[in-house]
Amino acid sequence: MDLKKLAAALIPDGDLVPPEEYENIYPERDRAPKAEVTRLAPSPTGFIHLGNLYSALADERSAHTTGGTFYLRIEDTDEKRKVDGAVESVIRSLKYFGIDFDEGAEIDSLQNKYGPYYQRQRAKIYRSFVKRLIEQGLAYPCFCTEDELNAVREEQTANKKTTGYYGEYAKCRNLSEDAIYANLKAGKPFVIRLKSQGSIENKFIFRDAIKGEVTVTENDQDVVILKSDGIPTYHFAHAIDDHFMRTTLVIRGEEWLSSLPVHLELHKVLGFKPPRYAHTSSLMKMDGETKRKLSKRKDPELSLDYYRKAGYFPKAVIKYLMTLLNSDFEEWSLKNPEADFRDFKFRIEKMSRSGALFDLDKLNDVSKTEISKLSAEECYEFLKGWVDEFGTDKDKSHFADKDYIIKVLSLVMGVGGKKRRKDIERAEQGVKMLDYFFDDTFAPEYNFRFDKATVNTVLENFEKSYDPADDNSTWFAKVKQIAPLVGFASEMSEYKANPEKFKGSVSDVAEILRIAITGMANSPDLCTIMAILGKERSLARLNAAKR
Ligand code: GLU
Repeated sequence: MDLKKLAAALIPDGDLVPPEEYENIYPERDRAPKAEVTRLAPSPTGFIHLGNLYSALADERSAHTTGGTFYLRIEDTDEKRKVDGAVESVIRSLKYFGIDFDEGAEIDSLQNKYGPYYQRQRAKIYRSFVKRLIEQGLAYPCFCTEDELNAVREEQTANKKTTGYYGEYAKCRNLSEDAIYANLKAGKPFVIRLKSQGSIENKFIFRDAIKGEVTVTENDQDVVILKSDGIPTYHFAHAIDDHFMRTTLVIRGEEWLSSLPVHLELHKVLGFKPPRYAHTSSLMKMDGETKRKLSKRKDPELSLDYYRKAGYFPKAVIKYLMTLLNSDFEEWSLKNPEADFRDFKFRIEKMSRSGALFDLDKLNDVSKTEISKLSAEECYEFLKGWVDEFGTDKDKSHFADKDYIIKVLSLVMGVGGKKRRKDIERAEQGVKMLDYFFDDTFAPEYNFRFDKATVNTVLENFEKSYDPADDNSTWFAKVKQIAPLVGFASEMSEYKANPEKFKGSVSDVAEILRIAITGMANSPDLCTIMAILGKERSLARLNAAKR
């Protein structure tokens, strides 16, 4: 068969660049031997999830701890799944978590020498290589219809054979020249398939950067490399793109491990050296007693939007993901509490072979700790950012008074105290927690544990004696003075020695005042809260709480 003629009939494009020229167009990168070139290669479906962030962090750390490059490639070969604005959303979401690309789609960089970074714009490159494979007898046209392929699959399933297009089932593999041209003349749609040279009889050992040594069986499937719309499949685009974008380390989900034999064969027939591969395990969660994969349908926490709306501190999410990526990160972080997490020696090889367990409670703990390390000013900026995007009108008006919020935050966070408080877990909860500092959102339920007369006596007497000029100890002395008036012990030691002698203690007096002022039985230092609220508002609250 005249393969050159066949290739020209199947790929008639007159303006293709010869395959070998691409080696010069996209030369090897100028990089140190250990510098990794990694990429995030999402499909622009608009849904960016925690798994993407987890993977992106592994890519970004692998590149940046080795002085390499991390780039963004958009795998938009499936036109039907494309969503407008999806690329911007990926970039924006990752940026929110502090992950930046060095080059790639929509990235403004002088380094952008390996583009285009949208696969649809690379059609000519793929077609040039497909044409060459046809000329070499390593690829061929397949005219099988969807129905024919389904019938073969059913037959294979019935006979307990491996499904797919291979060996005796690869009907178009040996079509005669006449048959091919007749089909073309009849205008039959076709795809281009790889003419696999492999055999399942052959096995070999492959070293995955995470999974370690895996035994791989050679590919014998004549996989589709170019679809009927002239656009390549993931398999083919991966081989071409990662070769010419000079990726050194492909980090991707373990669902691709089963396609590895195809990818290795494609690299071989194209004459490319394969990159290193690292197949990551999926993030898992506990669902009752069972461990399962995080699911898009069942788990809202899989979506990255969830973290933005709930106001997680971005660095806390990243630090938590770091603990999942490399199990020794947590220990390192405890030893180096002040260090930037980027100083940690991340290594892809240290990633766990089985799926890391994602635990929202642990993330909440990390988030509290990270927020507690901020200055009141930094915390204000963080909360304000959330308020601007997701807050109510009331939240917005509260945050307009920066000085007041900073005073409140200094107290709530325990700034200047011996130990920082960890009351703020995330912005949504933190902003809500400040509601009692504002009259328009102060909505107490007054769950007093004592009778009306006791509560009223406490409130009335404190109202009379309260002086905003009092320091903490004078303030507390006045609280103590009220205790005997309601049959409470004014010293805790007295109360503990003979609890049956008293209705309560000085701490119960404080609780009544606290509930009146804040609506809650627990709060930061009450004397300071009253000072922040000011005399007028404090007295008004004491009065309003009377039964
Ligand atoms: N577009 C593929 C996906 O979203 C990328 C896989 C890869 O990283 O190679 O699953």
